Amino acid sequence: MKIGVLGSGQLGRMLAIAAYPLGHQMSFLANSDKEPCSCLGVSYISSENSNAFDDLAKNVDVVTYESENTNVNIVEDINKKTTVFPGIKSLYISQHRGREKALFNKLNIPCAPHQMVNSVEELYMAVDKIGLPAILKTATEGYDGKGQFVINSKTQLKEAWKSMDGVETILEGFVDFKRELSLIAVRGADNSHAYYPLVENTHHNGILRVTIAPAQNISSKLQKKAEQYMRSILDEMDHVGVLTIEAFETANNLVVNEIAPRVHNSGHWTIEGAHTSQFENHIRAITKSPLGDTDCNHKFCAMINIIGEHGAVDKVLEVKNAHLHLYGKDERKDRKLGHITLTADTINDLEKSLAALEDFMP
Ligand code: AMP
Repeated sequence: MKIGVLGSGQLGRMLAIAAYPLGHQMSFLANSDKEPCSCLGVSYISSENSNAFDDLAKNVDVVTYESENTNVNIVEDINKKTTVFPGIKSLYISQHRGREKALFNKLNIPCAPHQMVNSVEELYMAVDKIGLPAILKTATEGYDGKGQFVINSKTQLKEAWKSMDGVETILEGFVDFKRELSLIAVRGADNSHAYYPLVENTHHNGILRVTIAPAQNISSKLQKKAEQYMRSILDEMDHVGVLTIEAFETANNLVVNEIAPRVHNSGHWTIEGAHTSQFENHIRAITKSPLGDTDCNHKFCAMINIIGEHGAVDKVLEVKNAHLHLYGKDERKDRKLGHITLTADTINDLEKSLAALEDFMP
C-alpha cells in the first residue's frame, strides 16, 4: 500500500523502516528536505508547496500522523480524499488535556483531580477546589514538560497564570507517585487488540531519558488493569493503530496522566525487544493487516535517549547487546537525536550495559 505520514521526524522514519519489508511505499509531509525521513520516501514539502497536504492525500491509500498536535481541520480535509488512521476522534481528544480527562471520567479511569482554567480568577477558584501542590498546564500543544508550572503556594498563582500567556489551561492536583509507567497497545480495524508490557520511564527536565522494559515488579493484576483501561479507550475512540497511555503508579493504583494516539518514545525498545515492534504493528493496523505478536524477545530491555549532543556514539557499538539508532538530526539542546536499546537475559547483564553507557544519562 501507499502510506502517507503527516510529519517527517524520527517516528515517521522508524515507521518507514518497519513498512518497507512489508512491501509498502512511504510518503511524508515535511517542512524541508533535511529531516529524518528525507530519502526514505517521497517528501511533500509544505514550505515550498501550498498544496502539499492535498498532493499527499491524492497519492496515498492511507494517511497516519506523527503528532497529536496535528491540525484537526487539515486532517478532516484529508479524510475526505483518503482514509486516515487513527481517526479524527482519536486526534481530537488526545490533543486537548481537558478532552482527555473527560474521556477518562466517562470510562471510570482514575486520573488526577482537575479543573479547566481560563483566567487568574478561575485559577484561584480551582486551587480552592483542588488544593496544593498542583500543576497548571496548557490544555494543548504541551510536550516534554513544556507549558507547565508547578504551584506549591498561593503566592505563585499570578506568576503561574502569567507564564501561560493567556491560553486555555488545566489545573491538575499533584499526584504522589512511586514511578511513571506507560502502556503501548495496538488495535486493528477488525477490533483485534494486542498489548505490550507496562514499562518504567525516567524523565529529566520533562524529557524521557530511560525506559526499562518490562517494568520490574508489576503484578499481573496491575498489567490487567492497565490493559482494561487501554481497551476501553481504544474501543471508545474506535482507534485504529498504536495508542500509548502514560500513567503514574501510586501506592495501590494506576492514575492515568495522558494518552498519545501514536507510536511512542517509551516503545522504541520494541524494535529489538519484542517479536513485532510498535512501528510494525502500527503499519499492520493502518493497512488492515493482522496484528503481530507483542511478546518480548528478551527478559530485560532498556532504552536510553540520546539528547542534545551525540556524544561518544562509537562506544555504543562496543557494548554487547546495545543497538544504536540515530535519526540524522543536527545537535540542539534538548533535541532527541537518537536512542540506544539494550537487551539482556539477566538483570545483571542489563545493569552492566547500562553502567557502560552512563555517559548518555543525565
Ligand atoms: P506531561 O506533559 O503531562 O506528561 O507531564 C510531564 C511530567 O510532569 C510527567 O512526566 C510527570 O513527571 C510530571 N507530572 C505531570 N502531571 C503531573 C501530576 N498531575 N502530578 C505529578 N506529576 C506530574
